[in-house]
Amino acid sequence: MKISRRNFLWISGAVITGSLALKLGLTPEEKVVSKDLRIQYAESSTTICPFCGVGCGIICYVEDGKVVGTEGDPDHPINEGALCSKGSALYNMAYVYDEKGVPQINPRRLTQVLYRAPYATDWEVKDWDWALETIAQRIKKTRDTTFEKTDSDGVTVNRSKALAWLGSAMCNNEENYLFHKLAKALGIINIDHCARL
Ligand code: SF4
Repeated sequence: MKISRRNFLWISGAVITGSLALKLGLTPEEKVVSKDLRIQYAESSTTICPFCGVGCGIICYVEDGKVVGTEGDPDHPINEGALCSKGSALYNMAYVYDEKGVPQINPRRLTQVLYRAPYATDWEVKDWDWALETIAQRIKKTRDTTFEKTDSDGVTVNRSKALAWLGSAMCNNEENYLFHKLAKALGIINIDHCARL
């Protein structure tokens, strides 16, 4: 039987737990160690850490449509289960613990589109249709008014220096390929990425 790194860690954990229970003289019913595991009945799926370009693999545990835990993916070739402090705290993007240690929805998490008009001091709540339409219109207007077919030497450049594109470490290679294509099609030459590794 081929044992993956992930299975190996699960099996090791089970063996250690079993040995500990035996040493303590606990019956199977008294093996409280795994009883309260938050992820006990959760389904798991994998994702990529959204914080930087290292692209560490993370396992998300989901129960009833809610994330109940996250941890480093031992099978992922980049991090082999390890996470830095940011990746280790990924769960807290969605939930924080109250004084009793019970997870509560993180009140600081943004769940709506917020828009602050030029010179305004307050944020307005907008819907996604408005946001996407407005972004598209502004990109089009900026591109149309600043597009250069040639530079001052007559060399064909087909560019707009007034637009910039910022990628995301959360996107995979295929998504970034498409984003890059779209940016180039718009004539954007200022292309960067939050991780820039
Ligand atoms: S923030 Fe940390 S855990 Fe996340 S991808 Fe970067 S190094 Fe990995």
